[in-house]
Amino acid sequence: MKIINIFLFFLFTLNIFSSDKIQIAIQPYDNFDKKFIEEIKTGIEKLYNAEVTVLEKEDIPKESYYKQRNRYRAEIILKYLDKNTDKKYAKVVGFTKKDISTTKDDIEDWGIFGLGTIDGKSCVVSIFRLGEKKVTKQKFKERVIKVINHELGHTFGLYHCENTTCLMEDAKGTIKTVDNETGDFCDECKTKLKDVVK
Ligand SMILES: [Zn+2]
Ligand SMILES: [Zn+2]
Repeated sequence: MKIINIFLFFLFTLNIFSSDKIQIAIQPYDNFDKKFIEEIKTGIEKLYNAEVTVLEKEDIPKESYYKQRNRYRAEIILKYLDKNTDKKYAKVVGFTKKDISTTKDDIEDWGIFGLGTIDGKSCVVSIFRLGEKKVTKQKFKERVIKVINHELGHTFGLYHCENTTCLMEDAKGTIKTVDNETGDFCDECKTKLKDVVK
């Protein structure tokens, strides 16, 4: 009987320490206000069934620098994050103030809000184009959370969604699209995500 009790206790303890939540890391590449980054973390945890950890600030990967435009190539940052982020995190969000870009159709270097690979581990988001100085703190924070949650959506396997106001709508480089989104997924996207979302 005692052995069973100990065994049960052991199982109980294991259960406490092994969270069933998805482990997501934020990798800051610049100094962000502590309270601001905590609010971002909460914004992710509100939508996803996840536990978010803010990692120590690091320098943005040097190899991503695109001198001609003074920007940083997003796909190179993603490769770096894939390779260098602790395996215990299922997903990682690179987070920067610097302008990031990628190739879009015929445009070699197109400035973006963020980039995430479908079913990948990593995504990256920049606040550079989110109008920090033009809108209220609240609005700005909402934009950042929406863009991060959108890019995370790609890493969880979602493509762009035709439903307007869905978080997975293609912003097409326009902040207005982001502002029109509810910050939540439409029912179709939610179904695809299953237990990843709350
Ligand atoms: Zn997208
Ligand atoms: Zn949708």
